[in-house]
Order: sequence, then structure tokens, then C-alpha cells
Amino acid sequence: MNLSAYPHLLKPLDLGPVAIKNRVMMGSMHTGLEEAPDGFSRLTAYFAERARGQAGLLVTGGIAPNRAGRVTEGSAMLSNDSEMARHIPITTVVHEHDAKIVLQILHAGRYAFHKALVAPSAIQAPINIFKPRALRGEEIPALVGDFVRCARLAQQAGYDGVEVMGSEGYLINQFVAKRTNRRDDLWGGDFKRRIRFPVQIVSGIRGALGRDFLIIYRLSLIDLVPGGSTWPQVVALARAVTDAGADAINTGIGWHETRIPTIAAVVPRAAFTVLTAELRAAVNVPVIASNRINTPDVAEAVLSAGQADMVSLARPLLADPRFVAKAAQGRRDEINTCIACNQACLDHIFEGKVATCLVNPMACRETELALKPAEKSKNIAVVGAGPAGLAVAVSAARRGHRVTLYEAEDQIGGQLIIARNVPGKAEFNETLRYFQRQLALTGVKVFLGRTIQARELLAGGFAEVVLATGVVPRRVSVSGADLPHVFSYEQVLRCKVTVGRRVAIIGAGGIGFDTALFLCQGLRPAGDERRAFFLQWGIDPQVLCEGGLSDDGGSWPASIRQVYLLQRKGGKLGASLGKTTGWIHRLILKKMRVEMMGRVQYEKIDAQGLHIRHKGKARLLAVDNVVICAGQEPRRELYDALAKQGVHVHLIGGAEKAVELDAQRAIDQGMRLALRL
Ligand code: FAD
Ligand code: NAP
Ligand code: SF4
Repeated sequence: MNLSAYPHLLKPLDLGPVAIKNRVMMGSMHTGLEEAPDGFSRLTAYFAERARGQAGLLVTGGIAPNRAGRVTEGSAMLSNDSEMARHIPITTVVHEHDAKIVLQILHAGRYAFHKALVAPSAIQAPINIFKPRALRGEEIPALVGDFVRCARLAQQAGYDGVEVMGSEGYLINQFVAKRTNRRDDLWGGDFKRRIRFPVQIVSGIRGALGRDFLIIYRLSLIDLVPGGSTWPQVVALARAVTDAGADAINTGIGWHETRIPTIAAVVPRAAFTVLTAELRAAVNVPVIASNRINTPDVAEAVLSAGQADMVSLARPLLADPRFVAKAAQGRRDEINTCIACNQACLDHIFEGKVATCLVNPMACRETELALKPAEKSKNIAVVGAGPAGLAVAVSAARRGHRVTLYEAEDQIGGQLIIARNVPGKAEFNETLRYFQRQLALTGVKVFLGRTIQARELLAGGFAEVVLATGVVPRRVSVSGADLPHVFSYEQVLRCKVTVGRRVAIIGAGGIGFDTALFLCQGLRPAGDERRAFFLQWGIDPQVLCEGGLSDDGGSWPASIRQVYLLQRKGGKLGASLGKTTGWIHRLILKKMRVEMMGRVQYEKIDAQGLHIRHKGKARLLAVDNVVICAGQEPRRELYDALAKQGVHVHLIGGAEKAVELDAQRAIDQGMRLALRL
């Protein structure tokens, strides 16, 4: 390996029983393959791909040590020999690629989504419909035994060790925190008794499996819930579990019920590594940093600053399994970077679907999708360099086709060009950088600033024409919608118009929410993003108060505009937003005092503003501008002329269907079409 660009990232690490070839750990992610039909062979291919990509250490998704601990009724367990046997192909293939792998033992406790859930105390989680039964004192030693049995089976399956999941608000965390542990026996009461459970688990595993088996303890660095641990308690727990036999501490941030974003795109890169650094100084085992470390440069910076001994990259290795290999080979501009959207990974899991990745549709589909060389190299035209056109162009070219890409704008990206102006969406820049590089590498001929016409395509002699021409904003039929103070979201987000201090937005879908946020915050100047993030969300980096929540609950700068966000239908605004991120967008707009209204009838727009009927009453919203975010229509004017001439013409992305369009569908459709061409 070339150590020059990332000397810290690529340096081997001695984790005690196991030596790791570099400082990259793939953090635990539940993919849904664990429970899918044929899931373990698909998991084997998934892990093989990441091991081939040179991640030093892999962690499995959370596996329950017993029935009560499963996250859902069907979640995977490791409690007997037949369950153990399914894991052997995974450990075998990972070792063949010179990587190490540990199994994460996860007991969900009160986060279990089934009726048999247990917890230290019978206190229901705010994010669960089921109430847990309090564990009886005499059950707890047997439960510790289940963790030990799970670790033993993991060892028999060939794992190099286990990660004991003690963070994110799962069972072990529930024992540790006063918030969820109201016991007054050996396992609760004061702090020492509350941490007895994790300490016994770690010492039990160490005692049963000896010195050669790696134990990583995933510790909650900052709980971000009332009644969570304080910093001295975090450090005391870290020392207690290392004294009990843990070889390394991985770090978790926040509980699942936390109302502060911890991994979404609004979280600055490496936001929490200042805390990892504090812990590293307080313990004598390696410490692993996690959350929003998504490029090799960020990872290198964390490691070289001495903030951690290793970095945990989870979603970034869904986005690009070759992350480490590319970094090592000086090809960092070829890395497909995780944009922290959660759309195809976590949102899928919460919808009961197998995870994948917005920017890499092949993730978790390694046995299903493969870019094999085309039988015959064809001359292909792609019209439109939005995400759909980019995906089909580079994938088809990788298969050996000769691809020409036409784009009307003077840059690639389509709607992503404006999406990246939205606060929290700058990561789309990485997606555009990735595609730009791939176009060059695959030899796609790119014509920018070229609004291509049907006759030119007909004259080009193309065997296939792909129309990825996207969408046009929908016009609304409200009287006055053509007045000069009524703008489209495109005009606003491209900063082509000057927007006044009072604005009404018609349409509260994803783009309406993004436009509202943009209008409240404007194009944000660069600054200390981490500091601003901590202040806004009320995070105390010193964790003086319980859970690391500051007394003031956070403070937001005032919005630079008065904004109204409107829709015609009833129900919650933003219902179509992502499952794991929609609440963040709603909360931010609430904090910025955006007035959100459903069941609105639009009467007319005039010089006074927008006249509406709301809850049966006429109301004038006295605004300077109205912005239309009322969805889109497909843009496919080239189709008929080409089809009529017998051209093999394909429609993808917004050009095919504008309803429920997003970049995930656009990229997925583009790549899948390329496999068929
Ligand atoms: P487009 O991106 O519209 O690209 C079509 C391209 O074709 C354009 O560049 C256009 O110039 C070109 N074109 C059209 N006609 C011609 C012609 N005749 N000749 C040459 N070129 C032509 N999606 C998400 O998944 N997550 C998000 O967080 C997200 N946020 C968004 C935020 C905003 C503000 C916006 C506007 C969109 C957001 N989206 C998001 C949606 C996402 O950007 C779109 O779904 C996606 O870009 C659609 O891709 P596409 O390739 O089909 O079309
Ligand atoms: P959208 O989600 O379909 O929302 C359109 C909005 O306009 C709705 O609020 C709708 O509500 C309203 N509307 C529809 N027709 C109207 C009409 N004729 N007159 C007045 N109002 C009308 O579309 P979008 O916001 O344009 O987003 C497009 C796509 O981009 C979405 O599918 C989304 O997935 C994607 N996107 C995703 C994100 C993300 O963060 N994941 C962000 C931005 C965009 P009523 O009909 O109730 O009025
Ligand atoms: Fe990252 Fe989004 Fe892919 Fe998830 S879906 S891995 S958040 S880019």
C-alpha cells in the first residue's frame, strides 16, 4: 500500500488479540439481509465486497443473543449451532481477503418491536408502541449467560471477536442510564450497580473465551437524552469495561429516541470526534471514532489529530465498498461519497425493506446486479446529465458501450445543482465530483450547453437513445400566478431573483421544505459548523449535565424571512419526507418560526399578497413574494419524434415519471437500464 496520502489511516493497528491492517472499521449496519430469504449468501457477497475493498475490520449488523433481545419478531439471533453455521461462509470469505470481522451482539431491550420485550424497568420508550416487562433480578445472570453463549458461538463461527452493543439506547445503555433504570437491587440504584450488567457481560465473555478473542465495547459517548450519563460516568464506565477485559472502545452518539440529529446530513462531518478525543485521553485502550466521517481526508484528520485510534465508517462503505483501496491507491476523487441522506439505507430499514444506497444501488444487491461487459459495443446517446443520465452514461460506458452525453446546462447535475444550495445538502457536491470523474475515466463524450434536438439525434446514427431529460416545475392555476412577484423554486434556489422579507410557499413536498429552509437561512457563510450545530441543538460538548444536553435546550438564529409553507391536503406537513429525517426538517422549520398550514385553498395572488381560505376563513398572507413548489411534470418532448422514426428510445428518471421522483430512483433506474443495454 502507498502510505503517503493517508499515513495514519493506512497504518496497522494492534487491537490486542487481533492485528488490523489499517485504521478503518466498517461500523455495524443492519441491512435487512439478515432476515431476507437467501439472506446469508447475499450477506456473504456483501461482506466479501467490503473486505476486497480493504476495510481492515468489519462488524456485522446487530445479532440478538436471545429471543427477547431481537429488534423485531423476525430479527436474526445467535443462540444455537444451526444459527451459528450460517455465519461460517461470511467469516471464511472475509479472512480470505485478509480482513478481520467481529459479530455485534445487540439486545434491543425496550426498543424491541414485539410483545416479548424486556428492560431494566417497565418504562415504555417514546418511539415504541410496546411496553417492556421489567426483568426479575434472578433472570439477569442468565441473560448475561446468553451474551456469553452468543460470543462463544461467534468464536466457533470463525469471528475474530465481538462488539458488545452498549450504546444508542439499547438494553445495556438502558441499564446504565438513570432514565431507564429505576431498579433498587444489585442491577440498579447507584451508578456502580447500574453498570454491573455491562461489566459482567464483558468479564463473562473474557473469562469464557480467553485472551485471544477480541472484545470491542460500543459505549454511548453522549446519550443526548434527559437522565443520561454525565462525562465522569462515561469515563468510569469505559474504564470499568476495559478493566473487565474490553480491548477497544467504539463510540456511539445519542439514543434512537434523541430529538437531536446524530448522523443526518445536517450534522457536520466528524462533529463528535472532540468527545472521542477526550475519552481517548482517559483510557488505555484504542478508541474508535464514528458518525459522519465520510471521506479519507476527514478520517485522516481525525486520526492525525490524535482524536481516535481508528475510524468507524458505516454508510460510507455502503456507498463505496472500495473506499479504502481507492484512498490507498491515490484515487480519492473516484470515491463515491456517502451524502448522509439516509434515504436508501436507514429509511429502507424502517420501512421493512432491505437497505441499499442512493448513490450506489448495488449495495446489498451484490448477487443480483453486476456490470458485465456488453456482448456488443453500441453507440448510445444519453440526453440529460441529471442523476439518471449520469448513472446510465457511466454504467453503460463501463460495460464497453460508446456513450455520448448531451446536457443543455453548462454543467452536469440536473436538479442536484440546485439541491446542493439547500442548507444541509452540500454533500451532493461529492456526488457530482464522483460522476464528473467517472465520465472522464469511462470515456463518455460529454457535450455541455447543448440542448439537443430530435433531428440531431436521428442524424447521429445511435443504436439506442436514452432520454433523461428530467422535469419541469408544475404551473399552478391560481389567479395571479403569472405576476412578476411569483417565482418558481428554480429561480429562488439558483439565486436568480431577489426575494423579499415575507414569502408564501405553495406546496409542502420535499422541495417546498427545502425552499423554506433556504429562505430562512439563505446561503450560509462558511464558519465553525460544529460550534453552530452544538449551539443550535443544545449539545453540551463537555457533557456536564446528564445526557450532554445544555440547559437552554439550544438556540437558533432568527430566520431572515417570515415564511409561510402551505399545502391543500390535510394531515401533517412533510408526511412524504424521509422516515428518519423528516422530523428534523419539520423541527428546524418550527424553530425558525415558519407558519405551516394544511387544508389551504388558494384564492388569488395580487399586489397585496396571497389570498387563501384556511379552516373556512378568508385570510390574506401579506407577502412580498409567492414561490411555487407544486411538484413537477415530465419533460419528454423528444420522445414521440424519435419513437416514430423507429429509434430504440428509453425514458428514465423524471422524464419517465415525475411523481415520487427522487435521486435514488433516478440513479437506480439509470444503472438498471445500463445493465440491459
Ligand atoms: P434532472 O435532475 O432534472 O436532470 C435532467 C437534465 O436534463 C437537466 O440537467 C436538463 O438540463 C437536461 N435536459 C433536458 N432537456 C434536454 C435536452 N433537450 N438536451 C440536453 N439536456 C437536456 N432527491 C433526493 O433523492 N434527495 C434529496 O435530498 C433531494 N433534494 C432535492 C432538493 C431540491 C431543491 C430539488 C430541486 C430536488 C431534490 N431532489 C432530491 C430531487 C432530485 O434532484 C431529482 O429527483 C433528480 O435530479 C431527478 O433526476 P433526473 O436525472 O431524472 O432529472
Ligand atoms: P411533491 O413532493 O410531489 O410535492 C408537491 C407539493 O405541491 C405538495 O405539497 C402538493 O400538496 C402541492 N401541489 C401539487 N399540485 C399542486 C397544484 N396543482 N397546485 C398547488 N399545489 C400543488 O414534489 P416536490 O416537492 O416538487 O418534490 C419532488 C420530488 O423530489 C419528491 O418526490 C421528493 O422525493 C424529491 N425530493 C426529496 C427530498 C428529500 O429530502 N428526500 C427533498 C426534495 C425533493 P397539495 O396537493 O396538498 O397541495
Ligand atoms: Fe449514505 Fe444516503 Fe447511501 Fe445511506 S443511502 S449510505 S446515507 S448515501
